[in-house]
Amino acid sequence: MGKIDINNFGTYSNTNQNKEKTKFFSLKNDSDVAQIRFCHNTIDDIEGVALHSVKDDQGITRKISCLRDYEGPLDNCPFCKYNSEHPEDKRIGGVQNRIFLTLVEYKQDVEGKISYEKKVWERGAKFKKELDGLVKRYNPLCKQVFEIERQGQPGDSSTKYGIYPIPGGIEEFPLTKADLENKSVVGSIVAVKTVDDMNTFIQTGSFLKKRNTETNTTGQTSTDTQQPTSEDLPFTQPVRRRL
Ligand SMILES: [Zn+2]
Repeated sequence: MGKIDINNFGTYSNTNQNKEKTKFFSLKNDSDVAQIRFCHNTIDDIEGVALHSVKDDQGITRKISCLRDYEGPLDNCPFCKYNSEHPEDKRIGGVQNRIFLTLVEYKQDVEGKISYEKKVWERGAKFKKELDGLVKRYNPLCKQVFEIERQGQPGDSSTKYGIYPIPGGIEEFPLTKADLENKSVVGSIVAVKTVDDMNTFIQTGSFLKKRNTETNTTGQTSTDTQQPTSEDLPFTQPVRRRL
């Protein structure tokens, strides 16, 4: 779903053979540090997504792409509308602008050999200012190794991250061309749901359709709360925000 390159029509695989679980970057305790390189050249490569954080009836929290455009009315996104009318219902959070950075985190073994792992670092909208400062100084951003330091205790909402350039060359910190190709988080970390899916969630606390709402042999639905299926609804484009 979403924007695709027409040159790649027909190359989509039906299997999930390349599907890898995304790893998230995190520093757990105050003063924890990590050595990283961002997998972005400029600010334009960095993805910003408007999303809702929702908690389902199993207690699982999910990130759902907001269906509304910047200036679109609340009615365009059932979660936006519901949240504005029922702010007390903590299951469905209001729309948030989140930034998803891709980076590689380096680890050094006892013999000094460096290995790395690609991860996603999710930050809030406030981080944009810090990011502007970095891309202004380091261009392309991926050509600099940084040390990130957590400044805040676990659970402290005012936690900040110090991002310090490590002087010296980048030769010993590998980063391949393929590492710079980042998949959109929309459709993976941030799920895309339809208006119908969102309305089902508001009513039932789950995205799963209840079996008794399926059409029976007479073509009538077996409940009073007939819902259109996803197929009946116009295609809704996930909202990607420019940073
Ligand atoms: Zn929304």
